[in-house]
This record gives sequence, C-alpha cells and structure tokens, in this order.
Amino acid sequence: MADHYEVLGVSREATTDEIKKAYRRLARELHPDVNPGADASERFKEVTHAYDVLSDAKQRQQYDMGGSGGMGGAGFGGFGDIFDTFFGGGQTQRGPKSRRERGQDALLRVEVDLDEVIFGTHRDLEVDTAVLCETCQGSCSQPGTSPITCDICHGSGQIQRAVRSLLGNVMTSSPCGSCRGYGTIIVSPCVTCQGQGRVRARRTVPVDIPAGVDTGLRLQMPGSGEIGQAGGPHGDLYLEIKVRNHEIFSRNGDDLLCTLDVQMTDAILGVSTTIQALDGDVDLDLKPGTQSSEVLTIKGRGITKLRGNGRGDLRIGIQVVTPTKLDHREKELIKSFAAGRKQQDTQLGHFQQGLFSKLRDKFLG
Ligand SMILES: [Zn+2]
Ligand SMILES: [Zn+2]
Repeated sequence: MADHYEVLGVSREATTDEIKKAYRRLARELHPDVNPGADASERFKEVTHAYDVLSDAKQRQQYDMGGSGGMGGAGFGGFGDIFDTFFGGGQTQRGPKSRRERGQDALLRVEVDLDEVIFGTHRDLEVDTAVLCETCQGSCSQPGTSPITCDICHGSGQIQRAVRSLLGNVMTSSPCGSCRGYGTIIVSPCVTCQGQGRVRARRTVPVDIPAGVDTGLRLQMPGSGEIGQAGGPHGDLYLEIKVRNHEIFSRNGDDLLCTLDVQMTDAILGVSTTIQALDGDVDLDLKPGTQSSEVLTIKGRGITKLRGNGRGDLRIGIQVVTPTKLDHREKELIKSFAAGRKQQDTQLGHFQQGLFSKLRDKFLG
C-alpha cells in the first residue's frame, strides 16, 4: 500500500489542519458522486484511508512508528457534518419513491365588477389543467399490464454504496438510475397519457366569489389545481381578484362613495329625490339649506363585509351646482332675491376648510 503521506500529497511534518485541507481537496475531485470512474473510486478509498489514519493522533503515531495504522471503526460522527457539506448528504429517504406526486398549484386572475362585490358572485372558470387519465386511471401502465420490479435495485429504488469516510465505512445511497428511484419499471406505458397517469384537459371550475373581496386578494381553493403525476393529489387553485373600477361609485373599505349634483334652488328649498345605487333605488330627502360638501350617509347600503357581519354604508357627497346661464327673467328674480337679503358679505376662510378637503375628510374620516 502506498505511503499515506504521499497519497495525500503532504509532508511527514504536516499539521492536522494541512492534512484535513489536503483530504478535502482530493475528496472533492475523487468522490464517487462527483467522479464515477473506477480509478477515482479506488483512489478515493486510498485517500480516505490515509486521512483516517493521519488525522487521528494515536493512529498517526502508530503509523509513523511502522504500525499498520489500523482501520478505525465508526467514530463519534464529528466529521459527519463536514461530509454532508461536501457532498450534499443527509438524505434519509429510504425505499423507492412513489410515482404519485402532488399536482402543482395554479393561479388565475378573476375580474369582477363593483356591484358583484356587494353581495358576492359566481363564476364558471375555464381552466387548462391536468386531469386523471381515464385509460389507466393514474396507474401509468396500459390496461392489463403492470410495472415490474426493477432488477438493478431489486425494488428498493436506491443503489447502496459503501464509502470510506473520514471515520470509517459509510453507506451512501443514491436513486437507482434504471428505475429513476421508483423501484419498478413500467414496461407498457399507457398510450393515452404516455405513462404519466394524467392528461391535459380544459375543465370548468365553479367558483363562488364571496362578498367584500378587493383587488389583490387571493382566494385559495384547496384541491382545485391540477392532478398530480400518476394520480397524485391535486394542487391548489388560487384566484387573484381584480375589482374593475366603476364609473360612478368608488370604494373606501366597505363603504361605497359617490357624489350627487344638486341644483342651487333644490339645495335652498330642499328636495326629495331617488337615486339609483348599485343594489337598487335609494330615496333621499335633502333638507332646505343643504350645503355643498355635505355628506349623506345611507346606513347598510355599502359592501357586505368579507369578514364579520353586515354591510358598509353608502356615502353621498353633495355638490351644489350654481347655474351659469340665466335668461332675463331668472336674472331679475335672482336680483330681487339678492336685494331682499340683508347679509351679503363674502367671508374668507382657511383653505383646509374648503370644499375639496371637507369632502375628502368626511368621506375618509
Ligand atoms: Zn394513462
Ligand atoms: Zn431500480
């Protein structure tokens, strides 16, 4: 057997650290997982044995004195983590893996209108997805045939290999290349699905979209995604909601917002009117002297709450419209009205108290 120091390429005076470094460098290029050649495998064993001996002070001393540098048994595992770091070990999978795999999740975007959000809505969504193969029912084999046990791994799906590690023999296992780790081989793959157990199809998924959803919300529909390989469990379907903008009504949380233009004369004298909300008519009574920027709140006519009970409110911002075109008679009437009024002063106010911010504050406050 070659000299342990020569095998590792270090001097007789090398420190433990230098020996460790040399071994790591060699192991990286010779480990069977990296370098499948028979030569490399032999050298790897040699290098590992040399390292085992020289990294242990007692064994190294014996070796230096002409001893055999005995093959130490399994140790306390202090280097196990190094080994794992090198080779991505740590796999504890035992036995063949199942062909059945969980299907992937899918994401669909769904657009809904604001009026649909008030009470929730229903959609029948067309989804391109994977469904169970009817021919083989997910078995992946042609009907009447069955998979055979892999004769390379004898059904275990794993190839075991003894590897000399830092501290003795270690059994490593890797997926069997012949059966790809399944332990069985499908000799007559189903023709319909090419042995996948599933086929692509267009499917209709009925979806109840709850009231109160908002743009960006994701609804999870467990088990409504594609079916897995070989009849494995379905993935989940996610619906990402987008609420289309409405040309009149907007939204603040569960409240619906709009504005109402009121003629100056109606604002002065008061008026009863009916407006068409998203969920039907709403009767309004504007009291005499209604001001611009007043907000009428209609309780319970907003959006049904996604979480919790009840509905938000409908909030209507009043905008008094000043007439711009008056005929001669109207002008005279207004003039005589104005002449009869004592208080004609204009008054300065803080900008923040102006119409725009008042409306906004009342809406959002
Ligand atoms: Zn099939
Ligand atoms: Zn196999």
